[in-house]
Amino acid sequence: MTSQSPAADAWTRSNPPLLRFLNACLNEFSAETSGTVADYIPELSKADPAHFGISLATLDGHVYEVGDSRVPFTIQSMSKPFVFALALDVLGASRVESAIGVEPSGDPFNSIRLNSDNHPFNPMVNAGAIACTGLICESKGDAAFEEIHKALGRFAGRELDVDEAVYASESQTGDRNRAIAYLLKTNAVIADNVAAVLDVYFRQCAVLVSARDIAVMAATLANRGINPVTGEQVMTPYAISRTLSVMTSSGMYDYAGEWIYRIGIPAKSGVGGGILAALPARLGLGSYSPKLDKHGNSVRGIKVCEALSSHYDLHMLNRSDDARNAVIADYDIGKSPSRRVRRPQEREIIAAHDQDVWIIELVGTLSLSAVDYVSRRLAARPRPQFVIFDLHRVTSTTRAGARLVAEAFAELATLNVTVVISGVKRASREWDSLREWTAELRNVRDFYLLDTAIEWVEDQIVYRYGGSIDFHETTELDEQLLLAGLSEEELADLASLCTIRSYQAGAKIVATGNPADSLFFLRSGAVHVTLPDGVRLATLTAGMAFGEMALLESTRSADVLADMSATAYEVPLGDFERFRKQHPRAGERIMRNLAQLLADRLIVANAKVDILTSM
Ligand code: GLU
Repeated sequence: MTSQSPAADAWTRSNPPLLRFLNACLNEFSAETSGTVADYIPELSKADPAHFGISLATLDGHVYEVGDSRVPFTIQSMSKPFVFALALDVLGASRVESAIGVEPSGDPFNSIRLNSDNHPFNPMVNAGAIACTGLICESKGDAAFEEIHKALGRFAGRELDVDEAVYASESQTGDRNRAIAYLLKTNAVIADNVAAVLDVYFRQCAVLVSARDIAVMAATLANRGINPVTGEQVMTPYAISRTLSVMTSSGMYDYAGEWIYRIGIPAKSGVGGGILAALPARLGLGSYSPKLDKHGNSVRGIKVCEALSSHYDLHMLNRSDDARNAVIADYDIGKSPSRRVRRPQEREIIAAHDQDVWIIELVGTLSLSAVDYVSRRLAARPRPQFVIFDLHRVTSTTRAGARLVAEAFAELATLNVTVVISGVKRASREWDSLREWTAELRNVRDFYLLDTAIEWVEDQIVYRYGGSIDFHETTELDEQLLLAGLSEEELADLASLCTIRSYQAGAKIVATGNPADSLFFLRSGAVHVTLPDGVRLATLTAGMAFGEMALLESTRSADVLADMSATAYEVPLGDFERFRKQHPRAGERIMRNLAQLLADRLIVANAKVDILTSM
């Protein structure tokens, strides 16, 4: 075990602000003792009214907990949204929607009243929830409870127990639900298996959860169905969004309208004393305190949600977004060439066409408004031949955003603009969603690294404007940039010190940490210089030196690998130093060339930093 310094210890024990907020709620609302514990299911009356737990789960999978956040209690009506989502996914939306409405009823949860079609008003009241369970029974038969039980566990991220005593207590006394079920049967909403459906329903209500569990379950709803702790996609985004819709309109019994007006967070409560609140794209909250108000909602739980919403201004309809934040930088290629060190002729061609390549680096969510803003920004400048969209900081793409991207790319295709995407990993969700929309387009290329994308575009510009890039061409020492300005005699002397080496593709020519004891002049092929962590510093082609930093340092600070079969002149450092002494003029010339090459690289590196800091 490593011992920590007192300062480090204090730091790790420090309270993150959200945890402090939850603790403040716990302290303040513990004093609230009004309300009554539900007793119409006799076993529920045994709950300890003092219990109070709060938990908040973030969408990056962190769970804050305070008080009795691990005390188990029965999920009751909080099972309803999850079983509704399950029914949507198992039976399909049209089957479910044909049996159960989505209008608020305005009645208490256990009302024995159906809508004008003789269907339940919505899946959040008992009639609708029993109908949902009936649908699962219809599709899964005897395995219905197991299916529901497993689904609830996937939302919670762990296997959940059942409180047999509460289950037995409700099955003995639940005549009102029996009456509702028979009413559903006479109206053909459920089949002729009332007892079996009710058995599953009572069991699903008796599943044991903690405040922590319901926070994670709520966060899964807030996260389009992906459990943020386990990473599992539990239900489809379609089912989740429809579930949140009915929670919004009908989740809090006959207090639902008031709730969404004041608190503005989709939520569901249960007579066991739990409240779960799911703020889409933000967080999931779970609270447990068994005393209920006249609507059947936990008194303290309501207070926690009110405090959370007002303190952090979280009402879901109180939102704005600035699409302009999506662009982190945009610039032409002249400001940020690739790390490929180019020969003078290539450099000239690229410099003459730097306006033809426009690079846009994006960040955050590619939403409808973000993509619209980017396309207008692009249209406001002269038309380029290539546009590179770097998406490596893009965290998500909405369907609307992806569709607009596809439409914008199609428009660029008609204008003969080639689109290059970088920064999207293949087989990632972003990739799939972009691919879904852009697969048909012929003007779209993609590279994982922005630098590779820029390099590819540079090559296209060089080819288009008459330059050639021949990796197999062989250059001699007189074409080496580092040796520019040396006389024939000096070059001949240097050549006599060199050995020609050949390398296979992939060969490591220089390894980090080894002594820097020779210089290389690339004769043919291409090599790249990378840091040990894989960051590519430069790609070099024939006519360029590498390992030249040996003139300034004694140990290699980067790897050099052959990109293809390559040949190079190698000169041992000792011989090279002797050569410089014998030919002081040539030595000075080389050091000046080296300074120039390093300065060029520094200018490019500074420009890249500048682009990102000047936005
Ligand atoms: N099992 C309870 C019932 O059907 C759930 C009610 C609730 O939590 O609202 O009466």
